[in-house]
Amino acid sequence: MKAVHSYAAQAADQPLAPYSLDRREPGSNDVEIKILYCGVCHSDIHTARNEWGGTMYPVVPGHEIVGKVSRVGDQVTQFKVGDTVGVGCFVDSCGHCQNCDEDNEQYCENGNSQTYNSLLQDKKTITYGGYSSHIVVTEKFVLRVSDKLPLEKVAPLLCAGITTYSPLKHWNVKKGDKLAVVGLGGLGHMAVKIAASMGAEVTVLSRSKGKEKDAQQLGAHHFELTTDPENMKKLANSFNFIIDTVSAEHDYNEYLSLLKTNGVMVLLGVPPTPADVHAFNLIGGRRSLVGSLVGGIRETQEMLDYCAEHQITSDVEMISIDQINEAYERTLKGDVHYRFVIDMASLN
Ligand code: NAP
Ligand code: ZN
Repeated sequence: MKAVHSYAAQAADQPLAPYSLDRREPGSNDVEIKILYCGVCHSDIHTARNEWGGTMYPVVPGHEIVGKVSRVGDQVTQFKVGDTVGVGCFVDSCGHCQNCDEDNEQYCENGNSQTYNSLLQDKKTITYGGYSSHIVVTEKFVLRVSDKLPLEKVAPLLCAGITTYSPLKHWNVKKGDKLAVVGLGGLGHMAVKIAASMGAEVTVLSRSKGKEKDAQQLGAHHFELTTDPENMKKLANSFNFIIDTVSAEHDYNEYLSLLKTNGVMVLLGVPPTPADVHAFNLIGGRRSLVGSLVGGIRETQEMLDYCAEHQITSDVEMISIDQINEAYERTLKGDVHYRFVIDMASLN
């Protein structure tokens, strides 16, 4: 065991604060990573505040991790000390179910081990995330990161990047498709960049008028305000795809009616409360309402390589770890442009 510096929430109504965390010594197949940067995902906030239920305190959030390999186990073959690497939303899975066999470890039938607030495959050991100086991960779940891009801007790709890349690939979004992104935050801004790079005609649907200019700079072709009912009516039957990244309760029916016939609305955001969907909004137009969870390890590596090739990174605002609680408040207000990233050097 090695005690490392971290930041943890001790209860749903407590701010995050310094916490001394015990990390395991690297086993034969483990890679120990000195964390340089960690992005701040809205899932960190949902979890720290127990908005989905099931948070095990103390919780150390963070699953957009980039760092350098600091130690390796004796059986590790893919990484060596000094390599630049990343860790995303999960750190292990059963490795033998159909989904694991098909490189979809995120849908592991026996339950994968998420990077924090989860159990390792022994089903006993609690996981702790990237708001910490080091993490130890079995090498199969470590990603290779190019040194060509600024690493603080790469960190958010490990969740926001793969979560938006995966459905765009799965539903084969291509040149000429009309695609809307609902909510311009961490996931939303990556959806805009990646969908535009694939040739889609991208519209941002936002409640924040102040984000219009940014939307265009990020690569969106159009910007529409969702708070104006007349505007929403005008957009009926406009899109082949809608990528919904909204973190709070909202009416899915309003957005389903914006889909063309055979259109697909992909839910990525996970509001804490369930929602009602009227069947008419699906059957009239043979529309689909679907969901998608991050992406598997193979696909995450593919996404990192794609982003390196296309020079796609996140727009980030760097913070020190002691600004984390303020960053949570600003994220909740929609005041994030477009991902907070913690400079982990501030932890020491
Ligand atoms: P974020 O940066 O906070 O962005 C969410 C955006 O949603 C906001 O910027 C805002 O955009 C919009 N929004 C927020 N509250 C709203 C409200 N009450 N009504 C309408 N719009 C609202 O969050 P994020 O990190 O992108 O995460 C978004 C969601 O995805 C979270 O629920 C997170 O847990 C989930 N998530 C899912 C996966 C997955 O695998 N499916 C992975 C990661 C995260 P505008 O100001 O433009 O309206
Ligand atoms: Zn995330």
